[in-house]
Amino acid sequence: MAGIKGRSGVYPHRKGQGGRKGRTGKYKRSPQQIEALRQRLKGIKQNPRSEAFKQNLRELHTGSKAYNWKGGYENHLHLNRLRRIRHLQAPGSHTLAEWLTLKAQYDFTCPSCHRREPEITLTEDHIIPLTKFGSNNIENIQPLCRSCNSKKYNKIIYYANRV
Ligand SMILES: [Zn+2]
Repeated sequence: MAGIKGRSGVYPHRKGQGGRKGRTGKYKRSPQQIEALRQRLKGIKQNPRSEAFKQNLRELHTGSKAYNWKGGYENHLHLNRLRRIRHLQAPGSHTLAEWLTLKAQYDFTCPSCHRREPEITLTEDHIIPLTKFGSNNIENIQPLCRSCNSKKYNKIIYYANRV
């Protein structure tokens, strides 16, 4: 074959079988140098499909090293405690009967996603959140399903009469 095959056809002026030859002559690396290089790259360059690489990845991204680590179970308990304290210190209160009446007024439906009670569980949402000094009075409560309640987070949204 005359010349070598390149990207855009055959290059007749280039001899040989083609492909990268690597270092030749005095630039050629000794076996010791190659071994040293291999050792140096061991921790950096790994086959992403290798078990070792996956293991390394798992260890680097689990638990407190995970990018979305929120402090673990202990912090979860701590946040729950804070939430309960806010509840207790918020002004006003309401009774279970008031809550049940309110749910009936909303036809046991989440006013945000319009799903009914057996499908979802209605939770008490504070229209003005406790973090923004809303009260525990029934006027400040609306029934929302758990996911809509979570989505609302600490925004002030009143879904009334949207059933
Ligand atoms: Zn909902």
